[in-house]
Amino acid sequence: MSKSELNCSFCGKPKSDTELLIAGLDAHICNSCIIQAHGILVEESSEQESNSVNIELKPPKEIKAFLDEYVVGQEVSKRVLAVAVYNHYKRLLQVDSKEDDIEIQKSNILIVGPTGTGKTLLAQTISKFLNVPLAIVDATVLTEAGYVGEDVESILTRLLQAADYDLDRAQRGIVFIDEIDKIARKSDNPSITRDVSGEGVQQALLKLLEGTIVNVPPKGGRKHPDQKFIELDTSNILFIAGGAFDGIETHINKRLNIKAIGYKNSFEKVHFNEDKILRHITPGDIRSYGLIPEIIGRLPVLTYMNPLDNVALRLILTSPKNALIKQYVKLFQMDQINLQFTPGALDYIVEKALQFKLGARGLRSLCEAILNDAMYELPNTEIKELKVTKLYVDQKLSNAEFSDLKIVS
Ligand code: ADP
Repeated sequence: MSKSELNCSFCGKPKSDTELLIAGLDAHICNSCIIQAHGILVEESSEQESNSVNIELKPPKEIKAFLDEYVVGQEVSKRVLAVAVYNHYKRLLQVDSKEDDIEIQKSNILIVGPTGTGKTLLAQTISKFLNVPLAIVDATVLTEAGYVGEDVESILTRLLQAADYDLDRAQRGIVFIDEIDKIARKSDNPSITRDVSGEGVQQALLKLLEGTIVNVPPKGGRKHPDQKFIELDTSNILFIAGGAFDGIETHINKRLNIKAIGYKNSFEKVHFNEDKILRHITPGDIRSYGLIPEIIGRLPVLTYMNPLDNVALRLILTSPKNALIKQYVKLFQMDQINLQFTPGALDYIVEKALQFKLGARGLRSLCEAILNDAMYELPNTEIKELKVTKLYVDQKLSNAEFSDLKIVS
């Protein structure tokens, strides 16, 4: 490098090693440093964009309409959730503006209903609507600190991961805690699986639900490779808890009967429709099931899911935006194959799902079993059309392991 040769003031490269060297007042910059600096600029500005609180208040009807596109039925839950999410938004706006000292409390939600009726789907759809990260955790794996299992804080690690380690996005995310009923206190809960540390886990969850600052171990991540802990504030995280609460109908029935007897002043037993009894659920029933009152208080929005009947299952197959049948038609289309189902075939699939008590989750496994052969055989053949009839379904299911499936009672 000759003495008089100019260098890039950033990387020190001599002019002869660069494609371009731009002169400033007292400095020079080469083409590769410009590209690098531009990259940093773009990354920073997009980060700022995603970090900025960009809340557009959407009315509950609009939220419900979005839910309608993905979730079949469950009208009550969808309305309740739409309002809870709307209020959650209002609360976030208030937190940002801090106009007066009336503090709006969190609208964490508890959804009670049989498995496979769309509780997780609701949480997923809401997170899609809000464009916020979602962490789905199973309460059964949570244990008190010190026990074998996952600490309650691990929930937040998941959320950070879902937010790609963007702390601000994580702090406005959604956590769906599934199977919350399985951490019910055992003394009041004579049924099902018992978690010895159930109450301890409930206690640990309390703070998280209410809003606290937690030191979260990030477990990897591009932006925090060596960092031991990230401070995460849970005050603006929306928590949605779900659970089947098997046997809670008995609690509701008992309570309703006592009330009815009280009114009628007689000992005649009143029979309520078992399928529809969940609509009478109250926080008191949840308490007598074994969730501690403090947890119930921090999940103030309580709603329920209806069991899915054949009409709902039939709709789930074909009507949501990403309905199963639409997905398979698209998969076949990618091989230029026109896939069709006759109405009889669809009814039959629903009938089978009900028969095996597989619920909506079973529809997927049934469709896989029915279409697997075709998905294996047809690509790269001359066959460009497949019409699935009831007979076809029957044949495929009797070949598949479904014939060996026990009917769950
Ligand atoms: P849960 O959380 O209540 O156990 P999920 O939400 O995980 O049930 O539902 C399992 C699958 O069944 C979902 O992926 C979805 O495809 C389907 N499903 C369940 N309920 C509905 C519904 N009401 N509308 C549309 N799809 C549903």
